[in-house]
Amino acid sequence: MSRDEDLSKVREILQRRRREIVEASQGASQELTALKEQERDPEYEEGAQTDLADYTLSSLVEGQRRELMLIDAALQRMDGGTFGTCVDCDLDIPLERLEAMPFAIRCSDDATLHEQEQRGAQGTHLTL
Ligand SMILES: [Zn+2]
Repeated sequence: MSRDEDLSKVREILQRRRREIVEASQGASQELTALKEQERDPEYEEGAQTDLADYTLSSLVEGQRRELMLIDAALQRMDGGTFGTCVDCDLDIPLERLEAMPFAIRCSDDATLHEQEQRGAQGTHLTL
């Protein structure tokens, strides 16, 4: 398989995932609207429980919004021709990695290095 075929496979994964999120978040915001309407109903004055459910749904939608941004950024990189190339070493990121992590911007070696640097920086910060 050529690299272009590999990448169009990843594009399909991203687009399918995007559709799923859009559909799921539409479902979640409908539930949210239903909850808000319940709150206005004096029959359902169990505030604390509703607040908790409300919070959980909001954070779900927030997470989905974040993933949607990552997907759109990945699709944009695809259109710009930079997708699938490691930002650190400029080598092609292997298909297996892209299939598992379509938003990856680093090869696994550089991703590990980057994580260690992040952790190292955090460790230093914690001892301050
Ligand atoms: Zn790399």
